[in-house]
Amino acid sequence: MTQTPPESAIILFNGKDLNNWTTRDGDPARWSVEDGVMSVTARGGDIMTEERFTDFMLHLEFMTPDMPDATGQAKGNSGVFLQGRYEVQVLDSYGIEVPGKGDCGSIYNQFAPLVNACKPPLQWQTYDVVFRGTRVDDSGQVVEPTRLTILQNGLVIQNNIQLPGVTGASIDENAGEPGPLLLQDHGNDVKYRNIWIVSLPLEGSDQY
Ligand code: MG
Repeated sequence: MTQTPPESAIILFNGKDLNNWTTRDGDPARWSVEDGVMSVTARGGDIMTEERFTDFMLHLEFMTPDMPDATGQAKGNSGVFLQGRYEVQVLDSYGIEVPGKGDCGSIYNQFAPLVNACKPPLQWQTYDVVFRGTRVDDSGQVVEPTRLTILQNGLVIQNNIQLPGVTGASIDENAGEPGPLLLQDHGNDVKYRNIWIVSLPLEGSDQY
């Protein structure tokens, strides 16, 4: 998918500052920004956008650090929380033959990626996500669960899966409401750049 945002895109990270990003508590984001790249800063906490989204297409690029002595969840961990509720895992899972439900590209603890599309640490990787939010009726009951498709480095790793609910560390459980994009501080020096979203209409017209 394209790395150049279409005209209708909302640029979530301008490469210069984090003015439209906050902590979970709404305080100013404290990650570092340099040369168009934002980096998880130790003890900076998770950061999220001020904008809220329902259905969308997301593009972002990430890079895991080189931590040759670390293993498992301690190896370049971060995460991309869609609507602040569903974590697409970021981890150095390069070379793992059968990636699992905690590996890079998983929906954390729900769905393993279909294939291992990971590049080695210190290389830029892409996530492209097509996201369809939960539909609820007037009483707040779920009518249609959240669905999503993800490409990692151009390969399909999640194919129109239906999510049973939010993942751990969700901002809330109000799945029918719009939510932010949230990036996780898991204590590792993961970097992000070129983050943009296109908000999608909830449905097309009923005209022929
Ligand atoms: Mg994570």
